Amino acid sequence: MSNIDEIKTRIDIVDLVSETVQLRRSGKNYTGFCPFHENTRTPAFVVFPESGTWRCFGQCNEGGDIFKFVMKKESWDFSEALRFLAERAGIELKPPTPEEQATAEEHDSLRELLESAVTFYRHNLFNTPAGAPALEYLRKQRGLRDETIEAFGLGYALNSYDAATQHFRSKNYKEEDLLAAGLVSERDSGGVYDRFRNRVMFPIRDERGRMTGFGARILNPEDVPKFLNSPQTVLFDKGHLLYGLDRARKSIRLQDQAVIVEGYLDVIAVHQAGYTNVVSPMGTALTEHQLYMLKRFTRRIVLALDPDAAGDKATLRGLQLARQTLDRESDPVFDARGLLGYEARLQADIRVSTLPGDLDPDEVVNRDPQEWQRIIDTARPIVVHVMETLAAGHDLDDPKIKNEIAAQVLPLIEDVPSSIERDTYLQQLARLLRVDERALLDARTGIVRTRTYRRRSGRQVPADGPAKSVVAALVQSGYNQEAHCLGVLLRRPSLLYQVDRRLQEDGLSRLLPEDFQHADHQAIFRLLHESVDQDMAEPLNYVLSGLSLQMMELADGLLARTENLDPVEDRVLEDLMRSLLDLRKRNLRQEDEYIKYLMEDAQEKGDIKITQYQQTMVQHSKIRGLIDRAIGKYTSHSINTR
Ligand SMILES: [Zn+2]
Repeated sequence: MSNIDEIKTRIDIVDLVSETVQLRRSGKNYTGFCPFHENTRTPAFVVFPESGTWRCFGQCNEGGDIFKFVMKKESWDFSEALRFLAERAGIELKPPTPEEQATAEEHDSLRELLESAVTFYRHNLFNTPAGAPALEYLRKQRGLRDETIEAFGLGYALNSYDAATQHFRSKNYKEEDLLAAGLVSERDSGGVYDRFRNRVMFPIRDERGRMTGFGARILNPEDVPKFLNSPQTVLFDKGHLLYGLDRARKSIRLQDQAVIVEGYLDVIAVHQAGYTNVVSPMGTALTEHQLYMLKRFTRRIVLALDPDAAGDKATLRGLQLARQTLDRESDPVFDARGLLGYEARLQADIRVSTLPGDLDPDEVVNRDPQEWQRIIDTARPIVVHVMETLAAGHDLDDPKIKNEIAAQVLPLIEDVPSSIERDTYLQQLARLLRVDERALLDARTGIVRTRTYRRRSGRQVPADGPAKSVVAALVQSGYNQEAHCLGVLLRRPSLLYQVDRRLQEDGLSRLLPEDFQHADHQAIFRLLHESVDQDMAEPLNYVLSGLSLQMMELADGLLARTENLDPVEDRVLEDLMRSLLDLRKRNLRQEDEYIKYLMEDAQEKGDIKITQYQQTMVQHSKIRGLIDRAIGKYTSHSINTR
């Protein structure tokens, strides 16, 4: 038995949860008020002792085992929860191997060195004449109070090639330690020199507050680069850190919202103004990993972008063009498509707000702290943001412009997994451009058709051109759509019967694991199917108890997607039918793409299989006809007639 299983056996989930939540027995299970969200009247929090799981059926829509409960309660990661629960269960975790021990010790000593660097730079800032201009800059130009400067541990690197090197040598640190910590750089001629010179120093800590490295900003406007981070070290990895998260994580969880700004000084200024749920990436575009880190504390994420970044037409197109700017610490790339992908995969709610005029966050809060809140409150979904930004300042009566905007926004809308949301965005776009939704849908089909045609005709296309992207796009949006359908079914397992009946009435096969292309989805669907065929446990509970930890996370995510299901069962069923039929159509289309490819190949080689492929295509088109007829039934307004 693994340590994890052993801990689960030894710790009674009811005991553990009872320490925080007052539980009442109801049948085999226990209910109470959820400790993770503001409760009103109905206890929506359930503990299932048999499976050792819990779930909030209210606002959070989250659940899991004892580990998940402790992680959520304490904002810990898995290994922290593991340590805590192991101790409680009286289980000694496997001692680290000598190599692990050595690595841990090396990391600890590097952190110690970096802590000592924080002290050194801080001393320079507050207690040396050379640091006075830096301090003046932070106080006067940036409006930072001394207690803020202290709290964030800001400092100053002297204008010298060896001040830091000498200082740490005198404390018996070796050159290789200084190099490993990223404090010095190596000379070509041998030896080392201070990496940071005449700069304001920002200690960068991990989410647990441990030192990882520094960010450094120039004081002399002539110096380049304007911002310089520690190099990649064993502790400092730009894509895996968020500035300010150690100080923000509590607020983020309490407020159930994280705000992302673009620079260290912005984080500090906004914190000083009392908004402590703010973090920033490390001067690079946001990574999926960073969002994943935030998602442990909240699903609701707002990007507070300055208008340049948010409105840059080039980046809106999703091209990887870094913005050329000398006056910001970062070169943010607002990649709408990438963000939508993250949003769907992480089941996050990512919104965008644009700062007014040419103001930076710190200027906004210094002008009027309340304005900050208003800006964050009016953040819009990514698709809407793109739509409105593209439209701003353009003559929308010009058909060319309408066309251009539609061409950019439609692929984004295609990426949205929920058919209800997709329809809403389409309507919004139609209203904005003052065109008929039907015209937009035609335009959308047109895009796909052109791409397919080009692939078949074998014309030269760009590296990441239509040939690959049409299939890739189908796979990606298929994933989201699968997840949406599964989420609905997990929430309302009884709909499975009705779905099967309706499919069969329309001459189609009932729902099969093969309708889901992704292995994890298939596994969940199989369990779901079993769950409605047994009567030992609640279907959802049956599914959850059959899942491994990782799969539990996935199921959680699926449930989260369908948090706000329409209370009217019929409408949910209708949406589900449409999505499932649409999914089948997509899968057929994808298969056809492959078959076409195989046919071309076969034709070239004079392969006999070609008739077989043709038959399959004919069969597909028959099924497609049936699907289209069925879709017609679940279509109440013109927008869905495809
Ligand atoms: Zn809850």
